[in-house]
Amino acid sequence: MTSISGKTSTDWAAFAKALGPVETIEETVRVKKRSRDFFWYSPILDRRLKTCFGDLVARPKSPAEMAQCLSLSARHLVPVTLRGGGTGNYGQSVPMEGGLIIDTTAMGEVLEIGPDFVRVQAGCNILKLNEALKAKGQELPVFPSTQDIATIGGFISGGSAGIGTVSHGMLRDAGNVLEIRALSAEENPREVVFSGDQINMIHHAWGINGVIIELTLRTVPTEDWIGCIATFADYPTCYGAGMALAASDIRRKLCSTLDARIGTYFDRLKGIVREGLPMLVTLIPRGQMDAFRALVAAHGGTVDLEMDEAERLARKLPHAFEFSYNHTTLQALKTDRKVTYLQILCPAPLNVEKIVELQGVLGDDVYMHHEFSLMGGQRVAFDLPLVKYTTDERLYEIMAIYEAHGCPASDPHSCIIEEGGMKKADYRHLAWKKRLDPLGLLNSPKSREWGRVRHLRPEAIEALHQA
Ligand SMILES: Cc1cc2nc3c(=O)[nH]c(=O)nc-3n(C[C@H](O)[C@H](O)[C@H](O)COP(=O)(O)OP(=O)(O)OC[C@H]3O[C@@H](n4cnc5c(N)ncnc54)[C@H](O)[C@@H]3O)c2cc1C
Repeated sequence: MTSISGKTSTDWAAFAKALGPVETIEETVRVKKRSRDFFWYSPILDRRLKTCFGDLVARPKSPAEMAQCLSLSARHLVPVTLRGGGTGNYGQSVPMEGGLIIDTTAMGEVLEIGPDFVRVQAGCNILKLNEALKAKGQELPVFPSTQDIATIGGFISGGSAGIGTVSHGMLRDAGNVLEIRALSAEENPREVVFSGDQINMIHHAWGINGVIIELTLRTVPTEDWIGCIATFADYPTCYGAGMALAASDIRRKLCSTLDARIGTYFDRLKGIVREGLPMLVTLIPRGQMDAFRALVAAHGGTVDLEMDEAERLARKLPHAFEFSYNHTTLQALKTDRKVTYLQILCPAPLNVEKIVELQGVLGDDVYMHHEFSLMGGQRVAFDLPLVKYTTDERLYEIMAIYEAHGCPASDPHSCIIEEGGMKKADYRHLAWKKRLDPLGLLNSPKSREWGRVRHLRPEAIEALHQA
């Protein structure tokens, strides 16, 4: 069997055979399909990653089979890329050096549901997990809008926020993730348990510093959610209503505001939500609908859509949250392949004046979209604007405009972990990479700094964090 990636010299047929009972996928078309994620959201990443493929896919069913995959990879020194649902959008799970893709989706058991926690295998589909929790009157405090496809291990490794962040904070905020069990990528894989402050040593590390096999997560009581969309006369007014909802004691699970031009891409809402107006998209507990309607009315808005789950299913409508977070970009890309997006932080304290100021300096090619969020106890908003793409230079110019107006940009057009939200290396992640991946097999091309520090001891790498 020749190398699909064209980047490795391993005998992949022999490798697959040596994996024994572990299910493998060797067909070129299927391997190539599992080498992709949603990097094509970015024209820059699309150019960079569309020809990167793995060589073989393994689908372990248990921690023991996962250990077998890692052990063989260590013996043959092959690059390893973990993959859950493959919904990441920075090419996080694209195997840039070829090698073995480990698909975790066969390790999907919900192991234990306690009064306010769940213990689950990393490959569990998030929708399946939320359904199991709902049967016990609970749900995840935070989940991504991709729950139908994404895995919980992929979310904790690659994600940071989502539906529920407006009430329950970021994934990294204390108490949301309680324990992570991970394996090292060595001939004799070791299991390491992360808890308390240590959680963030492996959370959001893009699978570069350990293989997550099991997670314990906080759960919260579930609600009878009503998906709502309200419209307003102009974007600053809509944003003001979003600010008020995020600051209110209404137990909203989502609070997103969208520029009127974004709504023009939402074919499924035609005839349901008034066209040409900015939207507030939210999830409200049934018992608090009166308070929500009053808040919208106080801001001069109209609630155009209220749907509970039964009505949503009867009308065959998407979830309200499929008009939020990065689903907004996806809805637009369905009809216009020329749009892309950015990721901007609006720091606390939030105010409508900042939005008016930005409207004055951003061009007609930027359509604002805010996700109101709780981050480290502060009320912030993430702007995920849609951008009518023209050139790479213009994208970076828009980021610079936001930054000049006090709103830091994370670059979603890079597949390098240090160039995204972090902007600098997290040497604690890299110290743990040295401990759990001493051979540098796990998704290493995603770290610019790894090559520089890989020869240092973990303690020396960690010391760089203090510097
Ligand atoms: C339409 C759309 C909407 C989105 N909405 C959100 C959102 O609301 N919030 C958000 O945070 N993100 C969002 N994302 C990004 C992404 O969907 C989420 O981060 C998602 O949860 C990733 O899960 P996954 O199973 O698809 O992971 P994958 O894409 O398969 O993997 C993500 C990263 O985790 C690593 N990984 C996977 N499993 C493991 C494991 N067991 N151990 C170690 N590393 C592992 C991979 O190598 C990769 O680096 C969105 C993306 C799209 C395309």
